[in-house]
Amino acid sequence: MAGIDAIVLGAGIVGTSIALHLAKRGLAVALVDRRAPGEETSYGNAGVIEGNTLLPHPFPAGLRSLLRVATKRATDANYHLAFLPKVAPWLMAYRANSTFERRIAFAEKMRPLFERAVGEHEVLLAESGAERYLRKEGWLKLYRTEAAFTATARERELASEYDLAFRILDVGETQALEPALAPVFQRAVHWPGAASVTDPLAVTRAYASRFAALGGVVLTGDARSLHRNGANWRIDTQEGPVDAREAVISLGPWTPDVLAPLGLDLPLAVKRGYHRHFRPRDNAGLTRPVVDAELGYCIAPMEQGLRLTTGAEFAARDAPPTPVQLDRLLPAAKELAPLGEPVEAAPWMGSRPCFADSRPVIGRAPGQGGLWLAYGHAHWGLTLGPVTGRLIAEMMTGATPFCDPVPYAAQRFMQ
Ligand SMILES: Cc1cc2nc3c(=O)[nH]c(=O)nc-3n(C[C@H](O)[C@H](O)[C@H](O)COP(=O)(O)OP(=O)(O)OC[C@H]3O[C@@H](n4cnc5c(N)ncnc54)[C@H](O)[C@@H]3O)c2cc1C
Repeated sequence: MAGIDAIVLGAGIVGTSIALHLAKRGLAVALVDRRAPGEETSYGNAGVIEGNTLLPHPFPAGLRSLLRVATKRATDANYHLAFLPKVAPWLMAYRANSTFERRIAFAEKMRPLFERAVGEHEVLLAESGAERYLRKEGWLKLYRTEAAFTATARERELASEYDLAFRILDVGETQALEPALAPVFQRAVHWPGAASVTDPLAVTRAYASRFAALGGVVLTGDARSLHRNGANWRIDTQEGPVDAREAVISLGPWTPDVLAPLGLDLPLAVKRGYHRHFRPRDNAGLTRPVVDAELGYCIAPMEQGLRLTTGAEFAARDAPPTPVQLDRLLPAAKELAPLGEPVEAAPWMGSRPCFADSRPVIGRAPGQGGLWLAYGHAHWGLTLGPVTGRLIAEMMTGATPFCDPVPYAAQRFMQ
């Protein structure tokens, strides 16, 4: 296929948003995936566009939390024992990034992306005719104990410094927002600066359709066929080979499969996560995503039902699913929210692609002319897809980037 300016590998929310942003700037773009757009990690998330987020998820603090995880009683984290030696260096680096000072540094470096996240989605949703999937109701974080609520006070202090809106609610005020929640918690915080979508897969599909309407081509191919062809990058697709001067790798948790043969080894790990849909009991529902903070799960109302999503599982990306966290947290989730019968026979599993500093990589691939990287969006790939699309498209077209891209450069791992 001739006349292509850029190849984008991976049609998750990140790659599809990049392809759309490049097409909007007049480039001829081929978006390549082995599946249809949005069917992997970008399908199964909790649908929250976390415009309010400041701090990354910390490594478990204190012996008690650590022991709960170690003895496999925690609902928010699980691990495969045989995998621990492999992921240990990454976990140590993650732990080093969990001091409050480092987490505040994350907030500063990531704020330019998070603060535009909802607005950038709104633009793409509007032009894709997909506004019906957007809910601007914020999200709720519930605390079962005063101690857990108090333990997160610094996050709210920081939010006030950043002028981010939030409202502390008692049980009655929370139930006024979500009458179906049982009073098994003491406090809640409503964050109105977040938004959510009722069908993340439909959103990525809508962005892909908009991309195609602008002349972009969606092709089927294996990203591992990427190789140099003279001054170009070449990818083999079912529609034949495609050449372009520039290529973007946005393969989420699969990005290392393509980078390793190029000699690029950036320290990515995955936090696997599960979801399952439940029919609402007695026709009671939720109007926004709700997080049970101490237990580390989210219940998000979706078109398919109430989607219960889990925290992190440390295991090899391709190891068979072990959805024990869902079993552990289900009694508490059913006590809190009107979860009826499960919709599917088995839970869904996906892998959040994560760097130990919780920041994504967005920018040039070191030492590979014409190659760009956009991956590692961890817990926030849905949130940050469109804003990543804007940033990398601005960099690739020589425009002034809307923010300093240095905090997201791959080079930070090479010093
Ligand atoms: C349980 C759970 C809940 C979450 N909740 C939220 C949330 O509420 N809000 C939020 O912002 N984020 C959330 N996330 C994170 C978010 O889902 C991810 O960060 C995001 O989906 C990553 O998008 P991506 O485009 O980078 O990757 P993906 O969506 O995984 O896209 C990568 C694409 O690459 C393709 N691919 C892989 N290998 C090849 C190959 N060899 N050849 C061709 N194509 C290939 C895949 O088919 C796929 O389409 C959650 C994640 C999980 C697991």
